[in-house]
Amino acid sequence: MEHAGERRLVDLLAGELRAHVAPPADGLRRRDAACVWGDNAAGMRPLLAHLLDERDARRPALVRGIPHHPDSIARERHYRDGLARRGMPVDEDLVITGWFTPEPTYTAMWELLERRRDFDAVVALNDMSAVSAIAALNDAGLRVPEDVAVTGYDNDLIATQWPGLTTVDQSFGEQGRVAAELMLEQIRDGPIAREVAVTSRVVVRGSTRPKGEPPVTDLDEAIAIAKSDKEQLAARDASLALSSALNYCWTVDEIVDAVSAHLHRLGIIRCYLGLYERRFDPDGDDGPTRVETDRARVVLAYRNGERHGAPTEPIASHELLPPDLADELEGGMLVLQPLAVLDRPLGYLLFEQSTGSARVAALMRTELSRAIDGVFTGEELLQHARYLEQVVERRTRELQAEVVTRRRAERELQRAVGELQRSAMRDGLTQLANRTAFAEHLDEQWREHLETGRELAVLMVDVDAFKPYNDHYGHLAGDEALRVVAECLARAIAGPDDLACRYGGEEFTAVLANTATRGARAVCERFRRYLDEAAVPHATSPIGGRLTPSVGVAAGAPHASVDPSHLVDLADQALYDAKAAGRDRVATRRMDARPSPVDAQAGPPDPDDAVPVGPAAVGRPAAGPQEA
Ligand code: GH3
Ligand code: MG
Ligand code: MG
Repeated sequence: MEHAGERRLVDLLAGELRAHVAPPADGLRRRDAACVWGDNAAGMRPLLAHLLDERDARRPALVRGIPHHPDSIARERHYRDGLARRGMPVDEDLVITGWFTPEPTYTAMWELLERRRDFDAVVALNDMSAVSAIAALNDAGLRVPEDVAVTGYDNDLIATQWPGLTTVDQSFGEQGRVAAELMLEQIRDGPIAREVAVTSRVVVRGSTRPKGEPPVTDLDEAIAIAKSDKEQLAARDASLALSSALNYCWTVDEIVDAVSAHLHRLGIIRCYLGLYERRFDPDGDDGPTRVETDRARVVLAYRNGERHGAPTEPIASHELLPPDLADELEGGMLVLQPLAVLDRPLGYLLFEQSTGSARVAALMRTELSRAIDGVFTGEELLQHARYLEQVVERRTRELQAEVVTRRRAERELQRAVGELQRSAMRDGLTQLANRTAFAEHLDEQWREHLETGRELAVLMVDVDAFKPYNDHYGHLAGDEALRVVAECLARAIAGPDDLACRYGGEEFTAVLANTATRGARAVCERFRRYLDEAAVPHATSPIGGRLTPSVGVAAGAPHASVDPSHLVDLADQALYDAKAAGRDRVATRRMDARPSPVDAQAGPPDPDDAVPVGPAAVGRPAAGPQEA
């Protein structure tokens, strides 16, 4: 832990938790709180006496711990004092830093061994670094204690490993007992600020045996070392097995299964795994974001070789265990390991070890953190993938909606354009096709009839005596009368390719597809009947009391030598015929198959139908001829 981190821990313990008792054995002090620690002077002085006086070490190397750690500082000071008191200078080149941990110690020791080998002892300020120093010495071909004597500090489990580590027992149990008493006193009588140093004692083992003497002298010690080494090896095997089992875990359940299957071999008798509850904020900037909460769920409860129960309900994470397991915090020696990767807290592990390696704690912390982080990261990726899928789905829906809207707009536009085009082709008063539409339609039909060779007819209609009608009834009434005429003409037309049009003024025309003179005349008579039935009064008509039309019809099969206007001219001439014959009648002209140049200009009256059909056809008396 960094220096600042340690300070925060002390403040947290004093403030938030109101402990006011510095935890034993962490070397941290607060002036305003009760503190318990192992007495470093009581440990280092006899240790140096043993090493320098009894074992006659002349040139020791020092492996210090975390440079700013109070225990490391104190023990180093006692080391320097001890040498000074014996008139031995400190060779600064033989002072290395091991950070209280194995790997940095091994590296620093190895580098020292590459420089020089003229030291005869190593004083390591904790057991972990002493064991690593021995490993480096052995790897360099030096024997402990024959070539180099080694001492540690703490009397850890590993101190009993071959060849047995001479160390200082800080009486952790006693420290804990005193701390608990202080705490109780504080609860009873209020805050106290007292420092209690618990005495320490030297434990001599094989790593400092005198030269010539076998490292192990009695059988019991040899058996103890062998047993310890065996346990260490078993724990290491179990650690490796757990480590590789965790590699295959995809879910928290699988992790829990893997851990519980290995606890026995790791010498763990109780174990609780708490994972911080996370929730996903769906509205993060880049999709769902993980949000840590201050709640935790205990996913593994293991006691006496058995798993108990399913994951618990979430609890406040500082409670560590749910109420029904709270008793577990009371007895025994539970070690708390925070689980984290980088700055990301994941949860915590509480466990009690009966035998095995001291490094199990570190292993459990790193391996479990890694595995849990892997599972959480996987879940987050899944969440993110789901989020991306939703984004894609939403965008697709939006795009589809856009396409639908655009298509609808296009259709409306087309409809409007069509409407516009149609209105450009329609007569405003009567809503019949106008003259432009008539010309187009006639052209089209002309071409088609040229191909089929069938007959085509054009009607030319003119309302009789319409000027007097207007004069008598007024222009508005005239308009209305024209609408009636248009409606009758449109009704009279039946064929799908027929078209009735307003030609201009009170003149109308119609194109009748596939129609010869007889059929055209039938349409004309129908038209005249309808108009007669409409009975539009015309008081000033010289023909009778009703509005009447004169109709000219021209029919025949189109031929390539003339154009459609020829048929229109013929119909016009027929209309003139009808007017000349007395109005209110139909006259026809025939378009010859091969008209003479003269005929092309003015076709003859239809021989089949030369006599204009008079008013008798609709049952009314004929009127006399009258010119417009
Ligand atoms: P005829 O029997 O010889 O055809 O005699 P007419 O009076 O119908 O012929 P004329 O060509 O002298 O008069 C046509 C009249 O039609 C003149 C005009 O006032 C009227 N007219 C033309 N277009 C419209 C229109 O859109 N609305 C109205 N109310 N009258 C129109
Ligand atoms: Mg006219
Ligand atoms: Mg007229």
